[in-house]
Amino acid sequence: MTTESYGPFGCVVAAPRGVQPPRRHTTRDDQFRDRLVDWLTFMVPMFIAELRNASDEELERARTDALEQIASHGDDLQYGGKHQASSRTALAKAFAILARADGGVTALGVHACLRPHEGCPGLTWGPRTTPSDHTKSRERTP
Ligand SMILES: [Zn+2]
Repeated sequence: MTTESYGPFGCVVAAPRGVQPPRRHTTRDDQFRDRLVDWLTFMVPMFIAELRNASDEELERARTDALEQIASHGDDLQYGGKHQASSRTALAKAFAILARADGGVTALGVHACLRPHEGCPGLTWGPRTTPSDHTKSRERTP
């Protein structure tokens, strides 16, 4: 494990999709999946920040609550119902907890982690430059 960190919100990105055939028409499942990815990439960083300084006991309680909520109301999560909001929130919290593991978590089209690691999609998304990168490139220019 490295001591580097992505900061208080971690790294939460849409996981790259494998090679998939082009969609002929969008189904309800496709729409659900796309909206869930958008929602998770927005909410998981908030819960990563919220749980950042949580004790082991607080993490265990959050893990147990999320597990119970998802297991009891997973159908509401996917198809709607009176527990949809609470079950989606529980799912985002579960991602925030799992993001603490080495290598983070990749599921349901989302990757979340707290530290850079080999194969992290957050490292390969577009050019990542820092001020020191610009300084180095200028130093090399004659
Ligand atoms: Zn990662």
